[in-house]
Amino acid sequence: MPLPITAAVLLDGSDRLTLTDVLLDDPLDREVVVRTEHVGLCHSDVHYVEGSLGIDRPAVLGHEVAGIVEAVGAQVSRVRVGQRVVATVTPSCGQCPHCLAGRPTQCSRVAEVRARPRPRFALPDGTPVQALADMGAFGEAFLASEDSLAIVPDDVPSVVACLLGCCVTTGVGAVVHGAQVRSEDTVAVIGCGGVGIAALQGARLAGARRIVALDSQPAKLEVARRFGATDTLLSQGDPADVVRRLHDLVPGGVSHAIEAVGNPATAALAFDLLAPAGTATVLGLMPEGRTIGIPADALVYGDRRIQGAYMGANRFLSDVDMFVDHYRSGRLDLDGMVTEVLPFDQIDEGLRRMRDPGTIRVVLRVGAGAA
Ligand SMILES: [Zn+2]
Ligand SMILES: [Zn+2]
Repeated sequence: MPLPITAAVLLDGSDRLTLTDVLLDDPLDREVVVRTEHVGLCHSDVHYVEGSLGIDRPAVLGHEVAGIVEAVGAQVSRVRVGQRVVATVTPSCGQCPHCLAGRPTQCSRVAEVRARPRPRFALPDGTPVQALADMGAFGEAFLASEDSLAIVPDDVPSVVACLLGCCVTTGVGAVVHGAQVRSEDTVAVIGCGGVGIAALQGARLAGARRIVALDSQPAKLEVARRFGATDTLLSQGDPADVVRRLHDLVPGGVSHAIEAVGNPATAALAFDLLAPAGTATVLGLMPEGRTIGIPADALVYGDRRIQGAYMGANRFLSDVDMFVDHYRSGRLDLDGMVTEVLPFDQIDEGLRRMRDPGTIRVVLRVGAGAA
């Protein structure tokens, strides 16, 4: 029997989310029904609401989510009813060459993992409703494949556990897995939103000796110092001037630059900040068709590199265990990243508050008893 729930739906022709009744389908053999506790508001959700990224409508957005397993399909073996879980947008098969090589975010069978013969959600009149990231977490419950869920211990509350699903995975992952930063490294992080703050924390966890935060808003730089930035740099105006000022702080440039904005100009800036033999790691998502312009001589003569790190090149299941241990020991500050918790019915207000420069993450409390 489909489960009647309330979800925030992006309707045709609307630039806001509408709370409405939808039906959640029964789980397939390898699927899990998760009762949502907390869900974070991520900038990619905003891009879909504003239309800069496209999705068929009506649609349920939301993907940075923690909740409690409510029901499982017949072949689910790894998670049990009652466990707290966090979901990833990068499920993986665990068996293809990319998965076996430790790059599950590049899983070549992800389409099979995500495949579903019928829609996850429908309006009461039967109209199918799309689900962002094959999940759709802006609702009281959602369906996810078992492969996209990691178990979170009870002592990690869902209000912070949800961050592990997107911004922490992406930001820390880009530093630890993508860039593989070490204690001798100097790191610049461009963009101090949720992902950038997580990248700063990743650089701190990795023991980088200098961590320079760059943002175009002064208020974000103040925030960055609380999460590991040893230096800050206002990245306004001529990029050549930004590079000069970075060289004043770190003579010769940094060994690693992390781009957490999702813009070709800041990706090129990341490359320009590098010392010889340095690596720029770009994790910000960009629409199809964009190109990044970098100086060829600096690339070749300077042995510099530029690379992607989609969703932080994460290894979700083992990463969540790592994050939990660092959180418990106080080395990973998740509580400080949640700058606002709002009830689910204030989701539109939450999307507005994301624009406040002091905001790192707005999290919505969905379940009545959510921890
Ligand atoms: Zn996200
Ligand atoms: Zn795979």
